[in-house]
Amino acid sequence: VLRLDGVRKSFGQNTVLDGITLDVHKHEVLALIGASGSGKSTLLRVINLLEQVDDGQIWLNEHDISDPRTPVDAVRSRIGVVFQHYNLFPHLSVLDNVTLASRTVHKQSRAVAEKRGLELLDQIGLADKARDFPDRLSGGQQQRTAIVRAIATEPELLLLDEVTSALDPELVGEVLDLVRQLKQTGTTIVMATHEMSFARDVADRVAFLHHGRVLEIGEPAAVFENPQEERTREFLARIP
Ligand code: ATP
Ligand code: MG
Repeated sequence: VLRLDGVRKSFGQNTVLDGITLDVHKHEVLALIGASGSGKSTLLRVINLLEQVDDGQIWLNEHDISDPRTPVDAVRSRIGVVFQHYNLFPHLSVLDNVTLASRTVHKQSRAVAEKRGLELLDQIGLADKARDFPDRLSGGQQQRTAIVRAIATEPELLLLDEVTSALDPELVGEVLDLVRQLKQTGTTIVMATHEMSFARDVADRVAFLHHGRVLEIGEPAAVFENPQEERTREFLARIP
């Protein structure tokens, strides 16, 4: 689904992505782990074309989306994204949040979009909140709504950036359960996470980023139980 080839990105003197080469397969969940500042968010942002790469290519289903001539909106409409902080529009109802992209970008009728939106909200137990505004929801409910909004248009790829790190601990579980559920339905996911036990549990592969490079990538059991790189060992040793 996704291939990065020698992707580089600097901000001034600061090289944040230092030649990232990576494949993400269809239906795969890839977890990005690494210290703060290692480049996880920037990697997700270049995939979604929120940042332009300095060098290298990004292929989404055989299309070079890092080509500056690529229509950015068309690419973004095929990629779902959820960030750490609540991503919902406060002035739109929960249902309108979930259906907005389907109606505007994908030109679905309101009836069709709302039918699907209500199904999705029902799956996360929030159908009765459909007409409420987001501020009536708990943080976990908001974040789950943001995730179903991101998949409402059936994107080819879902990017999740620390979707639980702004949540109270007791709300983390429900959001992680939803990610687990999406994995079961075959959604292709790249997620940056500090939740190591979740990465170990759910990810098909884990990539350890260090100073903008993928130092190690493999199945969770291999990376967590038997890291090959000293830096990975040091990083994991510091996680409680
Ligand atoms: P965290 O775990 O804290 O979320 P991260 O791995 O996601 O960290 P990034 O947010 O990708 O790290 O940041 C990597 C580096 O890029 C940092 O040194 C950061 O200061 C720098 N950086 C990110 N975005 C910008 C920007 N828009 N302008 C300048 N520097 C930036
Ligand atoms: Mg980050």
